[in-house]
Amino acid sequence: MSTLEAPAESPMGAHLIGGEWIASGPSMTTSINPARPDEPVGEHPVGDGSTAAAAVSAAVDAQQAWRDVGFRRRAEILERAAVLFEERADELALIGTREEGKLLAEMRGEAVLSAETCRYQAAVIKMPTERIYPSAKPGETIRTLRAPLGVVGVVTPWNFPILIPVWKIAPALAAGNTVVWKTASNTPLVSVAMAQIFVDAGVPAGALNLILGPGSMGGAMIEDPRVDGVTFTGSVPVGFDIRDKVTARNGRVQLELGGHNPAIVFDDADLDIAVPMVVAGAMGSTGQKCTATRRVIAHGAIYDELVERMATAVTDLKVGDGQDASAAIGPIVAPRARAEIAEGLEKAVAQGAEVVATAETPDTSECYFAPTLLTGTVDLDIWREEVFGPVSTVVKVDSDEEAFALANDTDFGLSASVFTTDMWRVDRAVNHLEAGIVKINAPTTGSELHVPFGGEKASSGHAPREQGDTAHDFFTRTRSIYINPGSPNPYA
Ligand code: NAP
Ligand code: MG
Repeated sequence: MSTLEAPAESPMGAHLIGGEWIASGPSMTTSINPARPDEPVGEHPVGDGSTAAAAVSAAVDAQQAWRDVGFRRRAEILERAAVLFEERADELALIGTREEGKLLAEMRGEAVLSAETCRYQAAVIKMPTERIYPSAKPGETIRTLRAPLGVVGVVTPWNFPILIPVWKIAPALAAGNTVVWKTASNTPLVSVAMAQIFVDAGVPAGALNLILGPGSMGGAMIEDPRVDGVTFTGSVPVGFDIRDKVTARNGRVQLELGGHNPAIVFDDADLDIAVPMVVAGAMGSTGQKCTATRRVIAHGAIYDELVERMATAVTDLKVGDGQDASAAIGPIVAPRARAEIAEGLEKAVAQGAEVVATAETPDTSECYFAPTLLTGTVDLDIWREEVFGPVSTVVKVDSDEEAFALANDTDFGLSASVFTTDMWRVDRAVNHLEAGIVKINAPTTGSELHVPFGGEKASSGHAPREQGDTAHDFFTRTRSIYINPGSPNPYA
């Protein structure tokens, strides 16, 4: 098996298929740095349907050997990958920041949490997950067995280019599956450096395959009947299309989709706690988080003070290059994504939203977008539609009833925050907010990797949750095993 050296300054792109690094074709393109458009990050090949088919073949060929290697060896390899994620955290962070724009410290955090995820999933497969049942027949043992799904397709977005793939790849490999990973077009080279980590940790040829290329190549991969399950994180339209295609051939599918997450600030909230957390939830990672706070629901009694204090905090945000340690907010990932956010904001303003604060932006790249705080009403489209950037809207309410009703008034249900010191409001929030993640006096963003993660309504599919021990449920199938002695009962 050949290895690819990926120096941090100009990493080379390549598909990883069957243990071989394939650095050309069918066509080539260049990965762009959104903060420094004149400083391309590196070249890489762009695959198509034939690339996807070759990767699936490699995963099929490697499947039985990887399953039969046993859980201990697989756990050892993941533990080694964890060490490499830590050792190479700076290198990964630099490539990732140059491709995606996120602050170096945030990107480095993804690498460190990836290490923890590998270790956690290596431990989960040593936990008892099988069950023994009573049998009506003398001598018979009935138990379950967790078999790997087989070949798993992993399709990931650019906004957490290190951590989200590892949420999926680590438990998939741990459970004995082989993987075809179609990474996002905006973040190919950091994916190559990550695949290199798994190779160096000892993942054998074909057990993890990485393909670089457009959505249509991902489409070819997920439609391949040899792919037993697909785990996807990204937008609603792509996710629902993948769901329809994979379920039509009776494959298993896991979806993590968009969000339009509310934060309710009640009149008894401590604004010293609420203001920085709501602003961080709304603007952190340039608002390019599925769990970002898009909608702020403020009780009338604290509305004016909350808006004023949030406005100051937003105006003070320093926007800049993710490689600049003094920046708090990086650029938007790409010009097209920036244009979509600008369009969403323009529409909101045309519909009557008031801009109460914006931060200053550098003029060195067209990808910078000023974090923007709006006030408005629930009649705005932006109140219901996800705009994937640093724009958040505050709406005033007069009662608890109205606050909870507005929080739920969306097709999405990923994350929701409530700021209050009243335990009855907390009780109501945890029981009645329609969200897969409910946070009390904490931002809508952020999660612990040993805890199940996912949403309700249009934010997720119906498969077991990602992360935590439930991840194992998606990547395995349960068999019921009946074992009889095969000889006459000597005690009868
Ligand atoms: P996206 O356009 O849906 O892309 C996600 C992935 O799917 C990318 O790798 C993309 O490839 C690929 N893809 C596109 N079309 C495809 C097709 N027809 N068949 C198979 N794969 C296809 O999403 P995005 O713009 O990268 O990410 C932003 C979205 O992700 C937001 O809506 C955000 O809320 C959501 N998100 C959700 C979570 C969560 O956990 N719930 C986390 C992060 C982000 P290309 O890159 O080549 O287009
Ligand atoms: Mg997209």
